[in-house]
Amino acid sequence: MKSKELIKILDELVPNPHCELNYNKDYELLIATVLSAQSTDKTVNLVTPVLFSKYDIYSLKDASIENIERIIKPVGTYHKKALFIKKIAQSLVDNYDGKVPNNREYLENLKGVGHKTCNVVLAELFNEPTMAIDTHMIRVSNRLGLTNSGDVKVIEEDLKKYFPIDKWNRVNHQLLLFGRYRCKSIKPECDNCPFNNKCKKTFKG
Ligand code: SF4
Repeated sequence: MKSKELIKILDELVPNPHCELNYNKDYELLIATVLSAQSTDKTVNLVTPVLFSKYDIYSLKDASIENIERIIKPVGTYHKKALFIKKIAQSLVDNYDGKVPNNREYLENLKGVGHKTCNVVLAELFNEPTMAIDTHMIRVSNRLGLTNSGDVKVIEEDLKKYFPIDKWNRVNHQLLLFGRYRCKSIKPECDNCPFNNKCKKTFKG
């Protein structure tokens, strides 16, 4: 399938793609994305309003680990994540006056911020063209035959080659949301799926 054709279908399936993590400030998005690792956006959206009503970036760096843990517990691996976000707050305040910079090298060197988290943040805050590969992206891009790999770096490169750069961020959200709500891991909704006769790995179960 040509990328143009696929983009047209995605525009019909997911006409308003967007980040599903709620945030009001740039650092809130960064911290929400860190919290979302091995969790769900839904769970993160339950804890972040509590966290950010209690702390801003300045008070978060001085907050006790125990208090942070108590709030973020539902997202899982909360001990590690509490340490990460406290240190991220400290670093942002020390180096960027509490703001998130458009600086991939700096962000990727923060503990808890991997390549994927960095892609999410740079795309969302600065409209940098990126392709963030999560579990949904791995599954959907393989099923659609856009890649033939489970390696996130290979998938990222395959998708970047396939789609025009000005579509990367939009398509990234579209594929992710399509995977989250329709092309699910278990029991994907294949009936009436526009990819049914094009899906390379059409679900047989
Ligand atoms: S046919 Fe099923 S497995 Fe294939 S893309 Fe559509 S929902 Fe996913």
